[in-house]
Amino acid sequence: MTLSGYDFVIWDWNGTLLDDAWVCLEIVNGMLSRRNLPTMDLKRYREIFDFPVADYYRRAGFDFSREPFERLADEFIGEYLARMGECALHDAVEETLARVERSGGRNVVLSASNHGTLETALRGAGIRERFLDIQGVEDHFAVSKIDMGHALLGRHAVDAGRAVLVGDTTHDHEVAVSLDVDSILVAGGHQSSDRLRSTGAPVAGSIAALFPA
Ligand SMILES: [Mg+2]
Repeated sequence: MTLSGYDFVIWDWNGTLLDDAWVCLEIVNGMLSRRNLPTMDLKRYREIFDFPVADYYRRAGFDFSREPFERLADEFIGEYLARMGECALHDAVEETLARVERSGGRNVVLSASNHGTLETALRGAGIRERFLDIQGVEDHFAVSKIDMGHALLGRHAVDAGRAVLVGDTTHDHEVAVSLDVDSILVAGGHQSSDRLRSTGAPVAGSIAALFPA
């Protein structure tokens, strides 16, 4: 399964285009250590990471009866914003985006991260101009990726049968199903290949495999 033949490619950002699982792991391990809780390795992280993230925090060992989830999430986000500049794009991202364009396809981003943060990160990575449109969370209210995806599709003349969502989590597959578009999941992000395969969606080993030269 490759991106060839798709007219509209909806990219997830964290873990899919941006290689940031390692820094999320370092941050969460720091938070666990400061509370004298056991840390985890990347394999374990990819087994437990999930949406909604509160479930993942619980599996990581945090106790919401001692400390509210919101405070933990704020601590994580503060550290993440300070460190996201350390993260690079996954291999072959720029070439793959260019190949989609050359084949007549359009690239867009759909992300659960803050819209302004997303804009800044894409500019910092030097790939903002590769995207016709980007959609992140516009305000402090929790808006689902499904609702944002409908808004994104609604702004463009999209033939859903020729659109595909590329993500790194089982949630991305669920979003694609709700939007009635195909999905392709990429390993090397925030969840294990086995979990991605459990969705039944095609799983690519890397970004490079999505659009071979
Ligand atoms: Mg992701």
